[in-house]
Amino acid sequence: MPYPRLKRLSLHVPILGRVVQQRDELRALNNQLTAELGQLTIERDQLRKQLDEELAILETILGTVTRSQDSPYGVGYCHCCRRQSVFEILGSWLRDEYLCLRCRSIPRQRHLQHILDTQFPGWEQALVHESSPTNDFLSRWCKNYSSSQYFDGVHSGESVDGVRCEDLEKLSFADESIDIFATQDVFEHVFHPELAAKEIARVLKPGGAHVFTVPRLHWVETSKPRARLTQAGIEYLEEPSYHGNPVGDGKALVTWDYGQDFENLIEAWSGLKTTTYNAVDRSLGIDGEFREVFVSRKPA
Ligand SMILES: [Zn+2]
Repeated sequence: MPYPRLKRLSLHVPILGRVVQQRDELRALNNQLTAELGQLTIERDQLRKQLDEELAILETILGTVTRSQDSPYGVGYCHCCRRQSVFEILGSWLRDEYLCLRCRSIPRQRHLQHILDTQFPGWEQALVHESSPTNDFLSRWCKNYSSSQYFDGVHSGESVDGVRCEDLEKLSFADESIDIFATQDVFEHVFHPELAAKEIARVLKPGGAHVFTVPRLHWVETSKPRARLTQAGIEYLEEPSYHGNPVGDGKALVTWDYGQDFENLIEAWSGLKTTTYNAVDRSLGIDGEFREVFVSRKPA
């Protein structure tokens, strides 16, 4: 008992007695949760080890199978989990059906991580911010990683249940404060991408970059908005289309269809030279639709 006098005093002061009792209960609960967390951590590590062993066996078995052109399995290096892994093709829509068996990443995620590893060596030490992440692939490797989500009606810089809110069209970050700003399939959901691109360019340090993916529809010549925000609310210019959303009701409205002119647009909006990376490399699990990675660099 660290506070014997407090304990003695509490016998005479009922309110203090209750407070001390509650404190003791909370301490006990905290100890219990700490023990449970320790146990769960051990179990997780055991499961990871088990998975590694099983995958090693699988890789050996697949060694022969993967040489076949038609095999749904391929062995290669995954830039998301930074391991040799097995990629599995579940269907013809490779964008979502070509998975790393270790980390469940999809091609565009592996491609983005591949671009970071090859074009931005040492990015793990850089100040990286990611808007609306749906996975932890960047945060696994980056020491100075932060992220934010968009919450309707919440100001940039405020938090909701401990999650930082940032509106891409009006960021709360200071000018030239971020090395790498990452967005993965986010730009097709903002109403004013021209403002978002400009804002990201503003907060990038000289030499920094916006590294991002966005579905660019090769059959669309000229990019166009699918919906716009008016005084009266959302005006739908096309049939409403939604993608998954990690927050809110789980649905994110597609606001723009980007087409062949996308690079010209993003360069005009951001004022930054933009490079498109478009590799196909099955040894890295990179293939399929909408795998392009765009990099808009701010001059050093
Ligand atoms: Zn992986």
